[in-house]
Amino acid sequence: MGGFKLGKMTLGSLFKKPETVLYPVEKKEAPAGLKGHIVNDVDVCILCGICQRRCPCAAIVVEKPNRKWTIDKFRCVQCGTCVLECPKHCLSMEPGWPAPSKEMYIESVDVPEHPKPMKKVS
Ligand code: SF4
Ligand code: SF4
Repeated sequence: MGGFKLGKMTLGSLFKKPETVLYPVEKKEAPAGLKGHIVNDVDVCILCGICQRRCPCAAIVVEKPNRKWTIDKFRCVQCGTCVLECPKHCLSMEPGWPAPSKEMYIESVDVPEHPKPMKKVS
């Protein structure tokens, strides 16, 4: 019985389209519901550090004096906590996979100074 099933599967796979693609020439569409990867809109970020404190994997580092926001995507498990907790809503889950890499790396972005709001003169 098992041998019959296996034979049927083997024969069937001879006539099926392969599941694999010729990456990087061909790319697979991200499936619906894929959490993707974290992106920070640095023009809105205020370097408050809440994302760093809430991340269960210690994947985020916020350096306020140097105005740097850093994420180690190899530690991130795409739980989405930082996105939910960010008070400025500048973190989002971009659909699609992070770019493949031969080496582990840490992504760091410079957060620009935001102009202070003008004071009202009465
Ligand atoms: S919680 Fe949001 S605003 Fe605060 S440092 Fe993180 S990304 Fe920036
Ligand atoms: S998605 Fe989760 S694991 Fe990834 S950086 Fe945000 S809080 Fe950390």
